Amino acid sequence: MERYSEGTRCVQAGYRPGNGEPRQVPIIQSTTFKYDTSEAMGRLFDLEDSGYFYTRLQNPTNDMVAAKIASLEGGTAGMLTSSGQAANFFAMFNICECGGHIVASSSIYGGTFNLIAVTMAKMGIQATFVSPDCTEEELDAAFTRDTKLVFGESIANPALTVLDIEKFARAAHKHGVPLIVDNTFPTPVNLRPIEWGADIVTHSTTKYMDGHGAAVGGAIVDSGKFDWMAHADKFPGLCQPDDSYHGIIYAEKFGKEGAFITKATSQLMRDFGSIQSPQNAFILNLGLESLHVRMPRHVENGQAVAEFLAAHPKVECVHYSGLKGDPYYEIAQKYMPKGGCGVVSFELKGGRQAAEAFMKELKLAAIETHVADARTCCLNPATSTHRQMNDEQLKAAGVPAGLVRMSCGLEDKEDLIADLSQALDAIK
Ligand SMILES: *Cc1c(COP(=O)(O)O)cnc(C)c1O
Repeated sequence: MERYSEGTRCVQAGYRPGNGEPRQVPIIQSTTFKYDTSEAMGRLFDLEDSGYFYTRLQNPTNDMVAAKIASLEGGTAGMLTSSGQAANFFAMFNICECGGHIVASSSIYGGTFNLIAVTMAKMGIQATFVSPDCTEEELDAAFTRDTKLVFGESIANPALTVLDIEKFARAAHKHGVPLIVDNTFPTPVNLRPIEWGADIVTHSTTKYMDGHGAAVGGAIVDSGKFDWMAHADKFPGLCQPDDSYHGIIYAEKFGKEGAFITKATSQLMRDFGSIQSPQNAFILNLGLESLHVRMPRHVENGQAVAEFLAAHPKVECVHYSGLKGDPYYEIAQKYMPKGGCGVVSFELKGGRQAAEAFMKELKLAAIETHVADARTCCLNPATSTHRQMNDEQLKAAGVPAGLVRMSCGLEDKEDLIADLSQALDAIK
């Protein structure tokens, strides 16, 4: 499939039925798989043969959908996980254990920030957070002898900052570690981080990839480019024998192309078991089939809404990297010439009261803790996700009380703008 363009791969990559086989990806709703001899099954347990034996480790439906996502991102191997949180945890924990250190962008999803700063810290993994806008020198200074990886989001949720992937990749590679990029918001339709130097890409497939608010899920894709063996002392998990598989060395046996995902599957999935259900993988695949058709519409609606809001007297400011004058406009043009995504954030004059009055009046945009859905939704962090904070704390956290995050869906933009307009009129 690799010779076909992106849109064709959205529709057909990952599953090519043979003569008389189902046209649609089959849902293999089976926990287990049958073998004729114990010896044949034993070879699977030794990682000597590849095949299916228990769905906690691998399932054919999941593998077909993961192969499509890997193809879209331009990677060599991929896997699905039960959620985006599991994808990011697995991607990091696969190479960073107790005693290790992570350099991460400070502008990332709250759940991922908590995962790194609190939960992984409890596992003995330290982290240094840097602004995505830091200089090369500041970034360089964040590394320690124990640093195992660099992490960032291509477009950050919810701050909508844009990551300078080349800058972060250069720093990571100079220190002999991979760059992991969470590419949830632009999706590979608008940005392929591997082409700019990222080594591993993660997704919350819950967002645009599913795109219909139907199934929570995650994915990890390996570029197959990072040379683990060249930095063998830093990555013993990949470069030294695994006693739980008779002493195989992943980086030797599976090479640069396969070591990372094979280890994440055979160790982390085995032990933590955050598998995506085959049903959800099937739903995810339905979303992927139209991803290349939907993303341009999300971008068109996001751009139109951002431009409307930027010109409105009741709006203090708008954050959208497609707007000329946005601090990330130039960098977004470089990495995402087709646009980024449909999520726009804006601050209303009049703070919390204005945001509450505005959101109450919206007819089409629903109040939800969600983004990247076919249906437009919005959220005021001050009265929902961040409601334990006072106005001063909100300001310090970069989420002022009047901030509204709006995820533009696939409706007609004229209707979305009319809805916003009447709700803005209702603010006294
Ligand atoms: C939503 C989100 C996550 C977490 O994904 P879940 O599927 O909700 O676990 C991680 N990263 C980003 C950028 C997200 O938007």
